[in-house]
Order: sequence, then C-alpha cells, then structure tokens
Amino acid sequence: MAIEDLLKKFKEYSAEDTTKLEYAYEFSKEAHLNQKRASGEVYFSHCQAVTDILLDYKMDLETVAAGLLHDVLEDTTVPCETFRKEFGEEIYNLVAGVTKIETLRFSSRDEAQAENWRKMILATAKDIRVIVIKLADRLHNMRTLNFLTNEKQLEISHETLSLYAPLAQRLGIFRLKSELEDLSFKYLYPDEYDSLSAKVSLIFTRREKLLEEFKANLEKNLGSANIPHRILSRAKNLYSIYRKMLKQDLPFEEIQDALGIRIITDNIINCYALLGTVHSVFKPVAGSFTDYIAVPKMNLYQSLHTSVMVSSGEIVEIQIRTEEMHRTSEYGIAAHWRYKLGESGADRHLDEKLNWLCQWMEWLQDLSSPREFIESFKTDLELDQIFIFTPKGDVKCLPAGATPIDFAYVIHSDIGDTCIGAKINNKMARLDDELKSGDRCEIITRRNSMPKRDWLSVVKTAGARSRIRKYLREHPQND
Ligand code: MN
Repeated sequence: MAIEDLLKKFKEYSAEDTTKLEYAYEFSKEAHLNQKRASGEVYFSHCQAVTDILLDYKMDLETVAAGLLHDVLEDTTVPCETFRKEFGEEIYNLVAGVTKIETLRFSSRDEAQAENWRKMILATAKDIRVIVIKLADRLHNMRTLNFLTNEKQLEISHETLSLYAPLAQRLGIFRLKSELEDLSFKYLYPDEYDSLSAKVSLIFTRREKLLEEFKANLEKNLGSANIPHRILSRAKNLYSIYRKMLKQDLPFEEIQDALGIRIITDNIINCYALLGTVHSVFKPVAGSFTDYIAVPKMNLYQSLHTSVMVSSGEIVEIQIRTEEMHRTSEYGIAAHWRYKLGESGADRHLDEKLNWLCQWMEWLQDLSSPREFIESFKTDLELDQIFIFTPKGDVKCLPAGATPIDFAYVIHSDIGDTCIGAKINNKMARLDDELKSGDRCEIITRRNSMPKRDWLSVVKTAGARSRIRKYLREHPQND
C-alpha cells in the first residue's frame, strides 16, 4: 500500500493531521530496509499490510502510525529513546506493548493455560489498542503462513486458535475472529477444512438462485414503499460450523444457520417494516422470530432474526438490522473506539478507557464467568496480579507480593508441603522472596519435608494459607 493510498483511506474517516503518519511511513520503511520476509518480499510490506487492516477498522491516528512502526522496536536497531523522541509517548507505548506481547511464547495445549495467557496478554497490553494492533499483525501473519514450514504453521495456528481468536471474540471483533479461526482451521485440520468448504460452496451456488428469487419477490412487494436497503448472502464461518457439528453431533446438512440472508437498512422503524414485508411475502417458520433489537444480546448485538419458507420449500434464516448494528457486529470494540472517545483525543484518560472497557466486558456474553474476568482485568491493570512461569513454560497467575511458597502450592499441594527452596530465573532464592511478573520459578522439594508455621506470615494466597493450616492441624506433633 503506497503512502497516497494509505492517506486516502485514513482521510475517508478522519480529519486529523497526517504529517505524523507520513513520517511514520518513511521511518519504518527506512528502518526495515534490507530485511526480507519468509515469502521473499521486503519486510516493510508486512507493516503496510498490518496498517491496511487497521484502516479497515477505522482506527485512530496513533494506532495506525503504531501499525506502521509495530516491528521497529523488536526487529531493527532503532533505540527506544530515539523512537520515543521521534514519535512521542503515546505511539511509543503502543509499539512497546505490541513488542512485549511478541516476546510471550505460548506452547501449552491445556485450555486452562490458554485462559491465563489471554489474561496475561490483556494485562501486558494495558491499552486495548495494543491488542487490536496485535490482532491485525497476527491476521496478516496467518494470511501469509504458507511460506513457513509445516511445523511452524501448526504451532502458530494453534496459538492463533487458542489465544488470539478468543481475544478477538471478547472484543466483539467478529470479522477478524472468523478469519483467524478459518485460517487456523485450514492448517490444523486440512481434510475437515477441505470437505466442509466444498460443501459450503456447493450450497452457496445452489442458494444463489434462491437469493435471486428472494430478492425479486421482496423488491416487488416493497413496491413504492421506498425503504433503503441492501441484501447480503451470509455464510457462517467454517470453523463455527465445524464446532457446531462436533458439539451437537450433527452432519453438515442439518446445520440450519450455515447460510442465510441479511437485510441492512437505515433505521429501526424500517427494520420492522422490512420484517413485515418479509413475513407477508414468505411464510414464517413458527417460533423462529427473535427480536434482538428490543432486547439486545449482552455483547450489544442487535438484529431481528426470523426464518421463512421459500417457494422451493427450503427454510432460510434472515437477519434484519441497521447499518450501525451491522458495524457493531462486525467490528466490535473497534467500531466503538472512535465514537466513545471522541475524535479530539482530549479525553483519553485511562480511567475512562477502563470504565468503558469494563462496561463492554460486562456486556460480553461468551464468557464463562464475566464477573471474574472483569475483576481480574481490573486488578491486572492495577498490577495486583503477577504472572510466573514454571520451568516448562506454563504460566501461573498469583497476587502481587506472592512468594515461591505460594507458587509451589499453586503447582501442587504436595510440592507446597515439601518445598525447601527455590530458583528464580536460575538463581538460588529464599522461600520468602517476592516474585515479580515474568519470573521463571523452579521449586526445590525434599521428600518428608514439612510446612513451617512461620510460612503463614509470608504467604499471600488463601489457597496456600489454608493448606498449611490444614497440615499443621493434622500433624500437631510436627509443629
Ligand atoms: Mn509484525
């Protein structure tokens, strides 16, 4: 993407002065000079592509500039101080945040571990825009994954599916989430992907005729009503279909909502008017109507849903919504970013961001325990929580001030009971030393060793405390 195209795309939605963007473009191009990607392309093409994705999501100037510069701190010789001086604190913090996440390496296949990693990424990012940049970066890397070895492809796809797609979902950026999922799906389960994608494109072709018929019929009946609208054919993303098939143990043919029709109009009244027309032209399926406009889903999703029978006897799912509702469902948190914070950037205070973020999180539906997530997110940002690596590279979440004893009990109560020492980052440490986020901690145990009463005044976690108390109660002779 040439600088002219980039500026044009940015100016379509923003009136901000673009001098900084132009400078970021030249700076990054210069810094990455002579670097190549695995595809053989010049490295800067990756920065351009990531920026293009951020422009798709209409991100603010700082985020777009940080997109251009996102690999400068990690992959070039430009010193942090120079960067900070050239681009200021805000852009520097965004790029430093992305770089920090870059250094986290996720390998575990354990879902509980993935949850800790997602939390750690959120906590590390501090600013939600860092996550959006990271997601754009990952999306472009997934789009160009074919240039890497198969081993790398599997590793990165696994990480994408277990970490980044769920993060995108949490932020309500469904379009990005779907593409990340389907790209990972393709590499992780190539046979299933091929067979499913063949089946979907088959019914897509068959349904094109049906869509034409539907459109013609609807237009005829709308007559002179003069309701602005556009009709889209919609396919559920492949990985969602696959997951639904597995979960409900259904063959593809029985997945009802794999394909459907979406009607987008200008305002809410017209949504209901269109619904009336649809129901008067096609026979609605009893019990299929849901009004998510009057009662939005928790992630703010709004639409009217209904299913109707067309002349061939086939059942078609229909969603009716306004342009604004459409944006929210596709872009999620990114769609609201600019509008919530205002164009000026004058009110970008952390508190406000957090408040808004927490509200947003509260609305999200797909969390197993939203309350806990919000709480942990808040405390993470206040740095009340630290993340400690096991020697194998797993991550454990602990309260700030936690000691190797707490860590030992988090791994296993027997390890806690028998610990006699610890190594922090390969150096011998005391059991009551304070752990810091990012430390790698190894616990040294001795068989038949026992918890000590004075540990009670050292530990920070309730789990360790109650376990030590219990042990002392059951073994009073040792106390
Ligand atoms: Mn990158």
